[in-house]
Amino acid sequence: MNKVIIFSAPSGAGKTTVVHHLLHTRKDMAFSVSATTRMPRPGEEHGKDYYFLSEEEFERNIAEDKFVEWEQVYNGLFYGTLKSEVQRLWDEGKVVLFDVDVAGGINLKKIYGDQALSIFVKPPSLDVLETRLRKRGTETEEKLEERIKKARTELDYEDQFDRVLLNNKLGEALVEATVLAERFIHE
Ligand code: 5GP
Repeated sequence: MNKVIIFSAPSGAGKTTVVHHLLHTRKDMAFSVSATTRMPRPGEEHGKDYYFLSEEEFERNIAEDKFVEWEQVYNGLFYGTLKSEVQRLWDEGKVVLFDVDVAGGINLKKIYGDQALSIFVKPPSLDVLETRLRKRGTETEEKLEERIKKARTELDYEDQFDRVLLNNKLGEALVEATVLAERFIHE
């Protein structure tokens, strides 16, 4: 059976770190590269971190029914999972890993059902989350406020996920993520 593992969390909870860890340590997993209309951050690569699309290209993909799911995650910024991307990785025999926002994670779980394990990565507190986001320093103050506001509402949705992964001590969270993933792959 083709499988997917969905990691969702408020921005800054550490889900991208968890996903990168699994990708570096497991040859049987691969990352579903999403499409987005956001501008690349320094160091980000087209086709590796995201498919960076113009709004016109993104809209064309919506019209042509190319997305499994898509969303306006932040005001004016679109993100989506391409059907072709998931199929490409399954064809390679991989378990597909998703790094999506909370609404996207709930949608993907509905779509993939038993083929999916959905994991909510939980920050120890909103204060810690805010500190992490500020340290990352990738956003302007306005965008940061938007992400913190969204995070506050997203924390209410953890019970809609199969598992909650508390990211208090990173090392422990990484071990726990590996255990959850392995169990799911072999069940
Ligand atoms: P960032 O701009 O920090 O890379 O991502 C912003 C948010 O969008 C993150 O929570 C990320 O997980 C989410 N995201 C990335 N790709 C997708 C996608 O394909 N669908 C959805 N729903 N969210 C996504």
